[in-house]
Amino acid sequence: MVTIEKNKLGEWYSSEEFEKLYTYLEGNLGAEWTREKTIFRVWAPTAEKVFVNLYSGGFTDEKEAIEQIVMKPYRNGVWTVEKEGNLHGTFYTYLVLSADGEWEGCDPYAKAVGVNGERAMVVDLDSTNPEGWEMDKSPFQNKNVTDAIIYEAHIRDLTVHKDSGIKNKGKFLGLAEEGTINSKGDNTGLDYIADLGVTHVHLLPFFDYASVDETKDGQYNWGYDPKNFFVPEGSYATDPYHGDIRIREAKKMVAAFHQKGIGVIMDVVFNHVYDAETFCFNNIVPGYFSRIDNDGIYSNGSICGNDTASERSMVREYIVQNVLYWVDEYHIDGFRFDLVGLLDIRTINEIVERVHTIRPEVLFYGEGWTMPTNVTKAGIKMATQKNSYLTPRFAYFNDTMRNLLRGRNSDTNERGYVNGGTGRADCLKSNLIGIPYWACSPGQVVNYVSCHDDLTLFDKLQVAEPKADRTTLLQYNRLAAGIVFAAAGIPFLQAGEELLRRKVNADGTVNSNSYDAGDSINAISWDCLQDPDCRKMRDYYKGLIAFRKNHPVLRLEDIRDIRDRITFYDIQQGEETICLIDCKGVAGESARKLCMIFNPEREKKEVFLPKGNWEIHVSDDKAGTENLGEADGRVTVLPVSCMILVQR
Ligand code: CA
Repeated sequence: MVTIEKNKLGEWYSSEEFEKLYTYLEGNLGAEWTREKTIFRVWAPTAEKVFVNLYSGGFTDEKEAIEQIVMKPYRNGVWTVEKEGNLHGTFYTYLVLSADGEWEGCDPYAKAVGVNGERAMVVDLDSTNPEGWEMDKSPFQNKNVTDAIIYEAHIRDLTVHKDSGIKNKGKFLGLAEEGTINSKGDNTGLDYIADLGVTHVHLLPFFDYASVDETKDGQYNWGYDPKNFFVPEGSYATDPYHGDIRIREAKKMVAAFHQKGIGVIMDVVFNHVYDAETFCFNNIVPGYFSRIDNDGIYSNGSICGNDTASERSMVREYIVQNVLYWVDEYHIDGFRFDLVGLLDIRTINEIVERVHTIRPEVLFYGEGWTMPTNVTKAGIKMATQKNSYLTPRFAYFNDTMRNLLRGRNSDTNERGYVNGGTGRADCLKSNLIGIPYWACSPGQVVNYVSCHDDLTLFDKLQVAEPKADRTTLLQYNRLAAGIVFAAAGIPFLQAGEELLRRKVNADGTVNSNSYDAGDSINAISWDCLQDPDCRKMRDYYKGLIAFRKNHPVLRLEDIRDIRDRITFYDIQQGEETICLIDCKGVAGESARKLCMIFNPEREKKEVFLPKGNWEIHVSDDKAGTENLGEADGRVTVLPVSCMILVQR
């Protein structure tokens, strides 16, 4: 062991010499269980001694270890020891002695933990598999990424409402319940999502996070505060104490979605941890996981107190192994990376490449905002929108489209294309073909007009125009949705956007950051389906989804195919946008041509159609795969609406 001054540790960790000596890529860190023995392996290159402490319980107030076992140096900074016998259900910690003193805590590679994730548990993972798990597989195979339609939701929000008809409220199992209905007999939860027609559900973080006390009921948080990356969150389990139960229940949820033909996308937060000072990895190898400068200052691009040093070989390996694990063990079908602009492109590409080798259908996308961060090595590029050409199989949220349609979040009064903003038709065109200014491929663009962050769509429209009546707001909403589902790229919606979801505080103001605001602000109100406007909007979204699924020409992934087919008409007088799509040669496409007309103006528009007979499939407040009426020569497009026509 080389002796390094404490304030030079960061430089040492990021040096070529360190990485040559201490990079361990065997992919087997953690506790490897078999019936006969368990092998513990921990990467602790700066440690002087390491022990495994075994415990009968997962509580940290239970002080006495059953046994303390000394670990031996293996290679590349890894320490290991074998313990004979069947250890399934035994809790453990590592005790690490280094120049800094003594530290005891959880295994960063823990596959199971006790309540609140303080101690790891040895687990027989096969015993956590629900019935039929060997046969469980992704329903989304041999598709383009642009075939995906993503529904973003929080496990608790979807299940907890009093009229959800769901038994396991706020739990993984709540989303595994079939046939749930509200008091009026409408589908809720799992069946509701399946009925909507989306291909994937994207669930806000459900790895073990720190902000909710698992010993208490009814606490709320979105969960962007990782504690144990390899373990499901305990508060979503019916029992957070026994480490195997949350694993089995999370798998049951995934299997239930798969049986309904829906893939499961996991929201992952690698860019920071809940508390960098107490995070186990940062204690076993002091400060290794985070970007810390020579003065001990944590980089804080995440605005959560610390940034992950993904550029270091064993952080990269940790993230890669973590994603591979969720794919393999939990059959996860996609990953949404929180603030991926803080992670380096090599890490992202390695993840994508290794996962796609075994599961090519897995989706990857993230928030590619450019953020300041103190990277610990020179020449490192981040996975941002503007670097998107360097991560070709990884997609990014298209805030360009969001801002275009509804106005920027940073200016709540600003209006967008759908609600009276002007001069945006050119920006709309580049978004319709799936390449906003920063992108070069529609397969890398996630189109949306609302997500869990900031105001809901309906709140934003309302705040930007307080005097607008409801009818007008509904028009804005429909036009925004029409564009999201018609555009090339990957459409995405926040759960409840289709139900006029709002987040209104007790004082009547709207909530733009409800991460800990509790159920009253966040829950999906399943009784809202009694409101006719709400039902109609749900049906409109459902119709748009069905229309998109029926027309492969809308789901092309290659920009060259799209550019060749799409023609914008420059005959308009105002802000309306008209485009014609030639469908020739698109496999599975039943239409010869599509004509899409987006009219954000407050007056109706007469539009001359290219010759031939046209069927109207989207118009006013209706959308779907049925012919709503024939058109020939010209059509009238209502104020603030979109019309989509099909020529056979
Ligand atoms: Ca937790």
